[in-house]
Amino acid sequence: MANPKEPLYIVLLGAPGAGKGTQARRLAEVLQIVHIASGDLFRENLNHQTALGLLAKEYIDQGKLVPDEITIRMVMERLACPDCASGAILDGFPRTVAQAQALDEELAARGQRVSAALYLRVSEGVLIARLSGRWICRSCQATYHTLFNPPRQPGICDVCGGELYQRSDDAAETVQNRLKVYFEQTLPLMDYYRARGVLVEINGEQEVERVADELLAAVHQIA
Ligand code: ADP
Ligand code: AMP
Repeated sequence: MANPKEPLYIVLLGAPGAGKGTQARRLAEVLQIVHIASGDLFRENLNHQTALGLLAKEYIDQGKLVPDEITIRMVMERLACPDCASGAILDGFPRTVAQAQALDEELAARGQRVSAALYLRVSEGVLIARLSGRWICRSCQATYHTLFNPPRQPGICDVCGGELYQRSDDAAETVQNRLKVYFEQTLPLMDYYRARGVLVEINGEQEVERVADELLAAVHQIA
């Protein structure tokens, strides 16, 4: 690493189902930095029935992006927390060029920058198979898959014993919309980060362990 003391701000890019959450949790543990998932923040707000959560639900249910202004404010508030001073892994944010610009401005104001944007490349057929079999723990958000990563006991989290559930926006109709939105609004971010020299592409169709190894190697090279 160029300067091990510099905080690492890592953006994980990839379509819904690419494995961002799975990998971000592991990477955060290894690098000892915070994992911020914008989708988890929205769902947490919804569970607590906050005004933000109820507003976001209307967009999430339709597979649309929550408007930039709302999303940017929520993530920037989280990034301002003291535990993010030593870096963070951003999962699901940014998803638009306006969000990426807002992130750059916020980090620049602190004399920081995005250290690496890691893109998990996964084909559409694989994404659909992953989302249709995804199960998530209600308590700790650990992620499983009926075929690719089944829990030891069906319906129960291996990590914390919590109850597993399937997201309603992982239903086939909503997934189609989410993928369309991804291709139209989020894919342009590849050019944004490529132009800044921080983009690394990883084959996200490999086994979880292999993807994790390649992500870590990329972080050590670029950051
Ligand atoms: P994202 O956060 O990008 O939407 P997740 O990390 O939730 O994606 O992964 C989507 C689904 O695919 C989950 O069910 C997860 O267990 C599974 N999964 C993640 N990575 C892999 C992989 N490398 N191989 C097979 N299945 C995977
Ligand atoms: P995720 O958990 O990342 O799949 O996100 C679930 C849903 O939350 C998305 O389909 C969007 O409706 C919303 N969402 C999450 N992150 C963002 C973001 N960065 N910008 C806009 N909407 C988002």
